[in-house]
Amino acid sequence: MNDSECYNFSAGPAALPKEVMQQIQEEWLDYQHSGTSIIEKSHRGADFSKVLATAKANIKELLSVPDNYEILFIHGGASMQFAMLPMNFLPQDGVADYINTGRWSQRAINEATLFGKVNSAASSENSQFKSVPNEKDWQPSPDAAYLHYTSNNTVYGTQFHAIPNRTDLPPLVVDMSSDIMSYPFDVSRFSLIYAGLQKNLGPSATALVIVKKEFLDKQARPTPGLLNYKTIVDHDSMFNTPNTFAIYTLSLVTTWLIKNGGLQNMQTQNQEKAELLYNTIDQSDGFYRGFAEQTDRSKMNVCFSIQTEALTTQFIQQAEQHNLVALAGHRAVGGIRASLYNAMPMSGVEKLVQFMIEFKKDNCIVLS
Ligand code: PMP
Repeated sequence: MNDSECYNFSAGPAALPKEVMQQIQEEWLDYQHSGTSIIEKSHRGADFSKVLATAKANIKELLSVPDNYEILFIHGGASMQFAMLPMNFLPQDGVADYINTGRWSQRAINEATLFGKVNSAASSENSQFKSVPNEKDWQPSPDAAYLHYTSNNTVYGTQFHAIPNRTDLPPLVVDMSSDIMSYPFDVSRFSLIYAGLQKNLGPSATALVIVKKEFLDKQARPTPGLLNYKTIVDHDSMFNTPNTFAIYTLSLVTTWLIKNGGLQNMQTQNQEKAELLYNTIDQSDGFYRGFAEQTDRSKMNVCFSIQTEALTTQFIQQAEQHNLVALAGHRAVGGIRASLYNAMPMSGVEKLVQFMIEFKKDNCIVLS
């Protein structure tokens, strides 16, 4: 084990593949022998046009995006999508269904109420968001413009392990910010998919949006151009100057994904990493306690606690000294959160697990 290597468990912005970071560094001042940096170039020039085309082609390949879908890059991160979605598709006298699995879906709900009626079709609030509501208990409304859910809740470490399958559901919209590209899935099941880039795909403040063309015809009201999906489609994500650095990084990350076995391989690796960490928690005789219910555990964000706050603080500090960084839980939950996105290698999880075993050995006497 190389003890000097730093492993970043941040929930987002999160670790990116080392090879990608190195490539950015290498070509930062002189992009492909052009004499200038990629971020100094016109977004309409030949070099960036190629980057944009590569990013879109890679996404299409990785997710097998069908031809009747558009791939967009939109400023403002995932939170802009919380507002943009209902602004475009929820009529003032209409209703949209939302599944509330905590902080992020709650934020999406808050924005939607500005534009129309929200039906809380299901919520896991009663379980303190330790689980996700079982699809069979959802209560969708008959005429909803769409049903929105969050596939992975980054804060609580919960995740839906299947795409909703009921036949009576309205058009599905999903916030996949914290698990997109971590497993293969069927895009055609959704009307709109969005994800902030900053976990599995690149830098913050830009969202990837994949939208079904026919859904775009359901425009609920006029909107400013920059907040209008159709306008952004018509301008190929360049209604104004896009975040060229974010799209450039995304093109490299998606190229890395293709080179590394695509989403099938990511799924296998993510499963192995999460299993190792959850097993360590479960076999610790209660020293470490997982936050989420076992069936709904996230493979991306593993949230757990130690009984006392003092030990938690000590754990996070000592882990940092071992180059295991950004392990503090979200401020709404506390405890410890280890985020295991695609770029986290197995060696990082092995090092964390080793540290956890030693930390327990040194401190379980304190608790007994
Ligand atoms: N949705 C989810 C699931 C998230 O984890 C986050 C951020 N952590 C957001 C939305 C908000 O993303 P942004 O900061 O890009 O607005």
